[in-house]
Amino acid sequence: MDGNSPRAFDCDVLVAGGGPGGSTVSTLLVQRGWRVTLLEKVRHPRFHIGESLLPANMPIFEEIGAMAKLEALGRQKLGADFPRDDGSSCIFRFDRALGDTPPCAYHVKRAEMDRMLFEHAREQGVDAREQVKVERVEFDAGGVTAHIDADGTKSTLRARYLVDASGRDTLLGKQLKLIDRNDKHQSAAMFAHYKNVAFNAGDPGGNIISINRFAHGWAWFIPLPDGTMSVGCVCKPGYLKTRQGADNETFMARTLAIVPGAAQHMTTAERVSPVRFTGNYSYACRQMAGPRWILVGDASAFLDPVFSSGVYLSMYSARRALDVIDGALREPRLEAALQRHYTRHLRRGYRRFAWFIYRFNSPAMKALFANPHNLMQVEQGVISMLAGDVFDNRRVLSKLRIFKAVYAATSLGHAHRWLADRLDRRRQNRMHVAAD
Ligand SMILES: Cc1cc2nc3c(=O)[nH]c(=O)nc-3n(C[C@H](O)[C@H](O)[C@H](O)COP(=O)(O)OP(=O)(O)OC[C@H]3O[C@@H](n4cnc5c(N)ncnc54)[C@H](O)[C@@H]3O)c2cc1C
Repeated sequence: MDGNSPRAFDCDVLVAGGGPGGSTVSTLLVQRGWRVTLLEKVRHPRFHIGESLLPANMPIFEEIGAMAKLEALGRQKLGADFPRDDGSSCIFRFDRALGDTPPCAYHVKRAEMDRMLFEHAREQGVDAREQVKVERVEFDAGGVTAHIDADGTKSTLRARYLVDASGRDTLLGKQLKLIDRNDKHQSAAMFAHYKNVAFNAGDPGGNIISINRFAHGWAWFIPLPDGTMSVGCVCKPGYLKTRQGADNETFMARTLAIVPGAAQHMTTAERVSPVRFTGNYSYACRQMAGPRWILVGDASAFLDPVFSSGVYLSMYSARRALDVIDGALREPRLEAALQRHYTRHLRRGYRRFAWFIYRFNSPAMKALFANPHNLMQVEQGVISMLAGDVFDNRRVLSKLRIFKAVYAATSLGHAHRWLADRLDRRRQNRMHVAAD
């Protein structure tokens, strides 16, 4: 080799980030025969939020050979409850979904699940290294060079392809300035684990997630495998300003006190973890892939977690990224077309979740979720969306289109009532003024 030749490759694919997306794509790639190095900046087990999984994610656990391991560490999740304003339950069970999504998913402690997926990748033959941070990457005509920091020791690694699975750190998104933040969805979340929390009245076994709306956002109640409950509140920015120096614990307690239906869970609750805060900003990268690189999971986009879609979207994008990388490494001239298809396909799924998320607290959506009707199987279509079936199932997609039409009509009705109410109040005010 002369002095100008590029260095030999250390691996075929370098994956930055050992969360669910990174571990999944690494396992799938070694199963196809590629040499993969997976770098995780911290050591597992490490705390992570995002404890409620979706049924549509289960076939991916099957495909990577980790389903039995997930079952061993998870608690069955059979559906989701969206309580009404009076606190009464309104449960959607996954076994009523259209299509062929499994009837259940799992609730997990993410530290345990993420460690399991990372170790599983290593067992399958991935060169999986912890406490190694990818600091930046450089692309050239033949591959990619990553500048890495392994516990203070700096070096480089050369690969033919790069997967950015760095989550909300968005390694490439920041380096290539790809991130578009959604200014309308900039909430923050606070959360903790509690013991002695009562399960939902309609859920004696503790197999349902509860998502309770309140005036300033929404709250989650997730029964965990060890009998504790993960409780979190996602709050709008205006409400966070009312915190006024209160410590995390006080602010969390004050917020739970105004969440309809929370009292039925929390009367005897004792907190067993610190209250943590995190930003919950929605964003998407303008580009999801380019020459010799691809983004998976939160590294490409983040949606408000009200429908627990994050881990599924991360592992699903990892599954789809496999086909792009495998195809591009075998036949480089196909790369651009494979990437275009990847981007279009994923963006469609994100948009379908986002449509529901961005309307979640609207009066019309509240009304439709509080009084579900299964006319033309529309309710079942919504359950399929809640199960994660938002990509390919034509039957489900047609039901979601009908739901959108019903939503539009309901919104009009609400707007009409709101206007009539305002006019009525104005008229009454005028009458009072005239009487004075
Ligand atoms: C408040 C809140 C609640 C949520 N609730 C849910 C839920 O109930 N269900 C659900 O499915 N999702 C939920 N999510 C979303 C979920 O947490 C994420 O979507 C999911 O973790 C994404 O997986 P990922 O592998 O893409 O990223 P991550 O899980 O974040 O993994 C990224 C990994 O990359 C590592 N890393 C970062 N930078 C580097 C680097 N430069 N070099 C090497 N390693 C690096 C990190 O340490 C991390 O381990 C929630 C999110 C929030 C904020």
